[in-house]
Order: sequence, then structure tokens, then C-alpha cells
Amino acid sequence: MEKKRCTAIVLAAGRGSRMESDVAKQYMLLRGRPLIWYALHAVEESSVIDDCILVTGAEDLSYVREEIVGKYGFGKVTAVVAGGKERYDSVYNGLQAAAGREVSQNGETSQDEKTVQKEKSPGESEMDGYIFIQDGARPFLTEEILERCYEAVKKDHACVAGMPVKDTIKIVDESGFAVQTPDRKRMWQVQTPQVFDAPLILSAYERLMQEKERLLREGISITDDAMVVETFTDCKVRLVEGDYRNIKVTTPEDMVVAEALL
Ligand code: C5P
Repeated sequence: MEKKRCTAIVLAAGRGSRMESDVAKQYMLLRGRPLIWYALHAVEESSVIDDCILVTGAEDLSYVREEIVGKYGFGKVTAVVAGGKERYDSVYNGLQAAAGREVSQNGETSQDEKTVQKEKSPGESEMDGYIFIQDGARPFLTEEILERCYEAVKKDHACVAGMPVKDTIKIVDESGFAVQTPDRKRMWQVQTPQVFDAPLILSAYERLMQEKERLLREGISITDDAMVVETFTDCKVRLVEGDYRNIKVTTPEDMVVAEALL
């Protein structure tokens, strides 16, 4: 059977405010290379991934095109597009680019574009294949993780890399008192890549965009892509073994850990 196209969407449009640095965290140097280089390199070298959409801050588009994609010769990157306010806005823009639609330079979707998307049903989507959504802030993506996710998505349509938690997890009330201790054997910490059938993730995100105001009013925050699929489709999301080293660099101490892991 012919291999379906696998498109990576690499996210690097976060402001990295928890990093307490003047340089945006995705461009901070790790062993002499910008943090974002590592995820892009894994994608570039992968035999699973065919092409890549890179999502960055609107103000960084030309810098990234020249100083990252051009300088390091990331030939699989077919588009660099502007992200949005929240991670899910950035993913949405990446999905629009993957579907061959226009994304405005400031990352905002115009009302006209929204209307067009509403009228499309999932079956009419111009996309086929699989979408691999990857945090640019995770430098330790490996070919093994990509392959495991690829095998799982072919079978189950939606999967995310993750690992069983090592610590006990508590659910707390608003005042910080423990109200519940879920069974640790069933708790996973979720990583990226998060991988989906392309029409499935596109239609789930279109629903999210239509209902985002309501979710915001209800205080529901969407923190990963699996949650969008869980909320707006009937498809179950499979957890796939990632790697304990597949960390997200968020705070200054994560840079120290990342240096050590390298
Ligand atoms: O903020 P968080 O740690 O969840 O970010 C995970 C990834 O999503 C990072 O690589 C970050 O650059 C990206 N992101 C984005 N657009 C946003 C927020 C985060 O592309 N608005």
C-alpha cells in the first residue's frame, strides 16, 4: 500500500514568558544551535515525515525563514506561517497552511475564511494523510517516537506520545487541598508528537474555532490537540510510548536538563 503523506506542524510561536529571557526561548542556543533546530532536524532526517509547516511569531517570519530554515537548509519546510495568541490558534494556522489555505501575515483568520471553513464538511476536506503536531520546544524528538506514532495513527486514527507518570498525581480544590488521588497506574504525562488523520484534526479544529468563545466563557482551557479531538469528535485517542527524555523546555532549569541530556 502506498504511504500516505505525513506532514509535521512544528510550533514555535509561543512567547516563552516562563523562560525569563530576553531572547525568545525557541531561538536560545543549546550547544550552539537554536532550540528550534533540534525538532526541525529530527523532522528533516525522518523517513516518516514528508513535509513540514513551521509556525512562528508574526514578527519573526523573515528571521526564521532566513536564519533558521535557509541557514540550516531545512528542505522539508514548505511554509513558515504566523501563529496566534494561544497554542491552539497556532495549530489552527498550521492546519490551514497544511490544507493549502492562506494564513494572514499577522496570524489572524479573517471572517471570510472562517465562513468558508464552516461550510465544509470533514469529507470534503482537501487534506489526506497524517498530521504530526510537534512542540518546537521539545528538542529530543526521535525517529523511534515518530515511527511508533506512525504505526499507531494508521491503526487508530489519533494518537499522542506520552509516558506513564512517576509521581503520584493529586487533584486539588481552589484552595489547594487534595480532593482526589487518581490511580497512578492509569496516569500518563502527555508529550508531542500528537498525530491524527488529517481530515479528523482539521474538522475538530474547525469546531473548536466555532465554539472557542463558549469554552472560554466556561473556563475550559484547551492545552493539547488530543483534547480537541476528544471534545469534538467520537474518535478515541491512543497513548503511544514517547520517551522520558522528550521534555519540553519551559523554564530556565529545563535548559540545564536539556544540556545534560545532549
Ligand atoms: O506554551 P506551551 O508550553 O504549551 O507551548 C508549547 C509549544 O507551543 C511551544 O513550542 C510554543 O512555542 C508553541 N506555542 C505556539 N503558539 C502559542 C503558544 C505556544 O506556537 N500561542
